[in-house]
Amino acid sequence: MTHPNSVTVNDRSYNWPTQTLVVICCDGSEPDYMELARAKGLMPNLNAIIEKGENLRGHSVVPSFTNPNNLSIVTGRPPAVHGISGNFFLEPESGEEVMMNDPKFLRAPTIFEGFQKAGARVAVVTAKDKLRRLLGNNLAFDGTAISFSSEKADQATLAEHGIENVCELVGMDVPDVYSAELSEFVFAAGVKLLQTFKPDLMYLSTTDYVQHKFAPDTDGANAFYVMMDKYLGELDAAGAIIVLTADHGMKAKTRADGTPDVIYLQDQLDEWVGDGKSKVILPITDPYVIHHGALGSFATVYLEDSVDAQAVADQIAALSGIHVVYDSERGCREFELPRDRMGDLIVVSRDTKVLGTRETEHDLSALKEPLRSHGGITEQEIPIVVNRHTANLNQPLRNFDAFSIGLNHIAQAAQAAE
Ligand SMILES: [Zn+2]
Repeated sequence: MTHPNSVTVNDRSYNWPTQTLVVICCDGSEPDYMELARAKGLMPNLNAIIEKGENLRGHSVVPSFTNPNNLSIVTGRPPAVHGISGNFFLEPESGEEVMMNDPKFLRAPTIFEGFQKAGARVAVVTAKDKLRRLLGNNLAFDGTAISFSSEKADQATLAEHGIENVCELVGMDVPDVYSAELSEFVFAAGVKLLQTFKPDLMYLSTTDYVQHKFAPDTDGANAFYVMMDKYLGELDAAGAIIVLTADHGMKAKTRADGTPDVIYLQDQLDEWVGDGKSKVILPITDPYVIHHGALGSFATVYLEDSVDAQAVADQIAALSGIHVVYDSERGCREFELPRDRMGDLIVVSRDTKVLGTRETEHDLSALKEPLRSHGGITEQEIPIVVNRHTANLNQPLRNFDAFSIGLNHIAQAAQAAE
C-alpha cells in the first residue's frame, strides 16, 4: 500500500514509521522511580534498552497534570494549541465549572488522526476511560484503528473502539480502577496488539495510582516497575521502536508530621477580598480523587472586576511555598496555555505544597497514605527513554516531542534521510 513519506500534524512533520513506534506515557513517573529500581537490578530489560538507546530527561507541560500532558504528547503541541489545560475549567460562556474530558473541548487533531487519514494503522490504549475519547478523537473504526481503556475493556465494541473481546485477547479480567493492574492491563494489551493488530503507531497510557501511593524505591513502587520491565522487554523483543516518557513527575506533599501541606487558597482569598469576590479553580479536580484529594500544585483564580488583581497576586506570592503567581497573560505565555480557559491569576506552589479551595471542600478521609501529588514546576522533570540511539534532538526536550523523537530522530533513520 502506498503512503506518504511524512505526515504533518499541527505544523509538525513526522516521517512515516518504518517499524511500529510505541510511545508509552507512564503516568506520574518521576525519574527516580526507574532510576532507583534500575540501581537495585529490578529492571534488567530497561537497562538493556538504555544500553542500546538513550536515557534522557525532558519537561512536561505546566500544569503538570495528566490530561494536558497526554493531549500534548498525542498532538505534539502544548495546551495553547490543543486547548486541554486541565481536567476541569470554568466555561466562560456559562460560568459553570465543567469537566474538560469531552472531545468538543479539543482544538487540534491528534497525530493518530493525521496518520490514520494517511493510511496508517493506529492503536491507543489508556488505563482510565476519561482519557480515551480525547485520545481517540476522530479515529475511524474501520479496521485500521483501535482505541479503548482497560477500565472499560469489557465494553469495547468494533463500532466504537475498533475491537471487541479485549479481555480474552489480553488474558486478564477488567481490573479495579484503583489498582496497579489497571496499568498492567495497558501493557499486556500493547504486547498482544503488537503481535495481532500490527499497528504503525501505538500509544500506551497508564494511570498514576501507584505513583500517588508509593514513593520511589518502596516495595509498592518497585513491584510496579518490575511489572513494567517485563512488558518493556516483550515490546522491545518484538522489534518495536519504544519511546517511554511520562505526563508529569510526582512529589511528596506533606509536612513533617505526615499531614498534607495545603494552602487553602479560597479561604485565604475570602478573608482578603470578601466572600464571592473570587473563585479558585483547581484543574486537577476529577471524579477519581481518592488518591490525591483534588490537591495539586496548580490553581487559577478568577477575580471580580472590583478586586485589585495585582494586590491579590502580591499577597498570594508572599505566602510560604508559592513558586510563581502570574497574571493570565504572562502565565499563559510562560506555560503555553489557552487564555480563555484560565482565570485572572495563575498560581503554582512548590515542592511539598499543594493548593486547595476551602478546607471544608476537600475530603481527605480517603487518603490512606501521606499525600503525593503534582501539578507544579517542581514536578515538570520527566524521563525520555528510547530503545535506539537518537540524533539531532532539539533541546530542551519536552514530553510532547515523543512522537517526533521516535519517527524523526532515531539515529539510523536520521542518517538515511541525509
Ligand atoms: Zn498523570
